Amino acid sequence: MKQQWVGLLDCNNFFVSCERLFRPDLENKPVAVLSSNDGCIVARSQEIKDMEIPMGVPYFQVKDILKTNNAVVFSGNHRLYRTISKRVFATMETVQNPIEQYSVDEAFFYFFGTEEEARQQILMIKETVEKEVGVPVSVGISLSKTLAKVANEMNKKTTGLKLLDFEEWSQINLSYPLASIWGIGRNFSKRLREDGLISVSDFLAADPGRVRRLYGVVGERIRQELQGISVLSAKNRELKQSIMSSRSFGKETIALSVLEEAISYHVEQVSYDLRQAGACATKVAVFISPSRHGDFVLQSRYGERDFLAPISTTRDIGVIAIQLLRELYVTGVPYKKAGVRVSGIQPFAVQQLSLFTPVAKKIPDPLQSTIDVVNRRFKTGRIHQGFLEGARKYSAIANQQSPAYTTSWGELPVVKA
Ligand SMILES: [Mg+2]
Repeated sequence: MKQQWVGLLDCNNFFVSCERLFRPDLENKPVAVLSSNDGCIVARSQEIKDMEIPMGVPYFQVKDILKTNNAVVFSGNHRLYRTISKRVFATMETVQNPIEQYSVDEAFFYFFGTEEEARQQILMIKETVEKEVGVPVSVGISLSKTLAKVANEMNKKTTGLKLLDFEEWSQINLSYPLASIWGIGRNFSKRLREDGLISVSDFLAADPGRVRRLYGVVGERIRQELQGISVLSAKNRELKQSIMSSRSFGKETIALSVLEEAISYHVEQVSYDLRQAGACATKVAVFISPSRHGDFVLQSRYGERDFLAPISTTRDIGVIAIQLLRELYVTGVPYKKAGVRVSGIQPFAVQQLSLFTPVAKKIPDPLQSTIDVVNRRFKTGRIHQGFLEGARKYSAIANQQSPAYTTSWGELPVVKA
């Protein structure tokens, strides 16, 4: 019998796999990737997981264990990961179209067919991506996104393929913890536990009216998904409410110029993300704060400003953010952290203009689009707004980054024959 299936492709240990793609000597060796500023572990090879080093742990805490075990540690090389990610999805689309990209290394898809056809399909997707791109992937398929996620996890360490049908799911959900279900975060699972709901089957057995009353639409949707009814749809992907970029300084600073550099850097980040999402914002916020320990703890400052019209260019957002910063800045305070947030986000297409909007701006701004294209292409010699000159100096600490194998002529991998 033909039916609708929902599948999920997930790259295994993605960042690590990207690094290994260009360093085959690292196969079967412990490899870890660090977050920006080399702060925490954000990707682990199986060997690292086997050492029981948890995800997200601060690097300095595990530095010694890693060294003793001859682990190879990389600073995140996100430009590399993004290009590999694009290859993965472009390749996947040659055998499965459309797909719905969910994150840098995951994509959902819908497949209509018999169980046998679904099994063949996930095998084909896995084989094609692994052969043509070279990173290992797992593909799970079931009746809803939430269950596809469950399926995907099931054989990750073995075949990397799993079809989870309703019958098998009804068996295993008796002991399947709600806390491990996609979309049930720590707070939600705590509430469920307090209400006596531990396993998926507890939740499915609960009175639907009660579920709705206690946990609202979100609870109801998760419940339907767990029943194998696909309700998390593909199309209405909502825009984020806000986009933020912030970071702590390596060392505290009292210098306005350093803060200006930091804010410029964050403006570049948020406005770029905004444009990538095909959106513009109506509000920008700037915040600066001293260390949470010490005499200046109450000197955190936050300021917000509305734009006359929705904007997305680095230049326009930057001018206002720097003005805000100068108003917030207090001489002599040792600042430890700074950040920028844009909100009131709306798509380019349905901009609401205010009555007082001077002239409707051409969006996307042609100059800005050109700058974005150039900056996407070249890692070095990027174009910056004049007043954002400092941003370059402020970019992340990344002491152990692998070369830009895929994006810079100067750093192509060398092949010896
Ligand atoms: Mg993954």
